[in-house]
Amino acid sequence: MKRTESVWDSVGNTPLIRIKSLSEQTGCNIYGKAEFLNPGGSIKDRAAKGMIAAAERSGALQPGGTLVEGTAGNTGIGLATLAAERGYQVILTMPNNQAQEKYQMLTALGAEVRAVPPCPFSNPDHFYHQAKRLAATLPGAVWADQFENTANAQIHYDTTGPEIAEQCAGRLDFLVSACGTGGTLGGTSAYLKEQIAQVRVIAADPHGSGVHDYFKTGCFTGDGGSVTEGIGIKRLTANLARANVDDALRISDRAMIDTLFHVSRHDGLFLGTSSALNLAAAYQTACAHRDSGKTIVTFLCDHGSRYVSKLLDESWQQEKDLVPRPLF
Ligand code: PMP
Repeated sequence: MKRTESVWDSVGNTPLIRIKSLSEQTGCNIYGKAEFLNPGGSIKDRAAKGMIAAAERSGALQPGGTLVEGTAGNTGIGLATLAAERGYQVILTMPNNQAQEKYQMLTALGAEVRAVPPCPFSNPDHFYHQAKRLAATLPGAVWADQFENTANAQIHYDTTGPEIAEQCAGRLDFLVSACGTGGTLGGTSAYLKEQIAQVRVIAADPHGSGVHDYFKTGCFTGDGGSVTEGIGIKRLTANLARANVDDALRISDRAMIDTLFHVSRHDGLFLGTSSALNLAAAYQTACAHRDSGKTIVTFLCDHGSRYVSKLLDESWQQEKDLVPRPLF
């Protein structure tokens, strides 16, 4: 491990961890990119770094300036983590139904959080529109705009993709990823498809999101809902538009939760819900290619400690019909 001189420089260069239990069960090699080891604890530290760097380069973000963003939590935590060190203020709009640990962490980092009722994107009070309006009213404020700001996908093209290519030494058969903004999938799929001829890219999607149907039929349809946080989208963002995808898998919350507790107990990895959904999709992909020795890479986006108040609450598990069962 290298020494770094700043939190800023410690974003990225995460390990790629073989998930032993799922790999041995399927006869494939399933790897998770350990993004929960970023300084702010999630993959969104990379997007935050990319967007801050772009705003600094353009001159929009001046010393002592303010960053405004609408976020499910992790982008806000990434921005607040890096802004603390660089001397910026952070103001966030965030739906009020996210795990309480994320609000607590934002408070610890000194960000101002405006929790708003969740509503459809078409409603002008959606956290995204509220952030945009707020930034317009504050002098010197910059709206990060993680959905349409392509500095998000670009940093995954510039860092996450090359790290994976190097860690796999070019031997990669499948890349599996869920989408929140599409930054991760957009940037890494674009890079890896250019570099590794045989790689197939699979979009993993929860119920209530339109990404699965978009890649299957061209329309952002999709019913139901999901307890997963930070993923699922029903529109083509500029970041998702960069994605180069071969197939899509819809993953149920049941498969997600059983995978989450399986890898927790068998691999020592207690992960967040999007990581578990990614691993469930990677496992399903491996099952379809059983004993082939294929290499499958996915993202461990954040850690389960960020969701303890939900995941380990037995009444929450019962209410959601998500009491964990054996995966196999
Ligand atoms: N997992 C978690 C926990 C997240 O918070 C996010 C981002 N909202 C993602 C995955 C998806 O990342 P991206 O925005 O790059 O699609």
